[in-house]
Amino acid sequence: MLALSNVEVLYAEVILALKGVSMQVPQRGCVALLGANGAGKSTTLKAISGVIDSEDGRVSGGLIAFEGQPIHGQDSATVVRAGLVHVMEGRRVLPHMTVEQNLIIGGHMFKSAAAMRQALAAVYQAIPRLADLRRRVAGYLSGGEQQMLVIGRAIMAEPRLMLIDEPSLGLAPRMIEEVFALLHRLREQGLALLIVEQNTRVALEIADYGYVMESGRIVLEGDAQELRANEDVREFYLGLD
Ligand code: ATP
Repeated sequence: MLALSNVEVLYAEVILALKGVSMQVPQRGCVALLGANGAGKSTTLKAISGVIDSEDGRVSGGLIAFEGQPIHGQDSATVVRAGLVHVMEGRRVLPHMTVEQNLIIGGHMFKSAAAMRQALAAVYQAIPRLADLRRRVAGYLSGGEQQMLVIGRAIMAEPRLMLIDEPSLGLAPRMIEEVFALLHRLREQGLALLIVEQNTRVALEIADYGYVMESGRIVLEGDAQELRANEDVREFYLGLD
């Protein structure tokens, strides 16, 4: 469904942040992208979704294809319309707007009010918590609720693949469980996922395949189960004991 081959990214024309990254996400698959801070995980997601442009970066080599079509160098709005959304790190909700207003922004591409209502209903069905919170101001939600809101806003665009960056960051363990339970449900409904996580344990529980990055390169890949079991991987790359 998604294929990267030898992708390179340059920031400010001088910093080579990705040095030939190749990876794949199969249809309906769930892939974890792991590695230490600064390894290039967020850059990989930004290169795929096209937001790299707004950070003075560009894909300077390689190919990125989504469902067989090249998408590298396309702007992020075009990529969203193609069915690929990017939930960025940091839960960027519009804090003074209500939950529902935040969701409506995610559905800005709809041409009719009926289509918007239908998409909202689908999001509320997938994430009932958001239906309960619909009139609440987003800035006052808990971290976990804000994470659910940004996921809800992303699925307003009716994607087939979601890139999600550090969904567990700063959340209490119970909230991490809830957010991953939600991702699991979305997967079962057919959404493919590419998850960047520092929390390797939860990421490898939901994923079926994993890639480990170091200094702008993939240094290891394998079935999630194998990665979980491999002692060296656990110690050196994943920080598990
Ligand atoms: P983290 O988990 O800390 O976000 P990461 O694995 O996602 O780490 P990236 O954020 O992709 O890593 O960063 C990869 C490299 O690119 C780092 O060396 C970083 O300093 C550099 N980098 C990231 N964004 C920019 C930018 N806008 N301009 C210049 N260099 C950048």
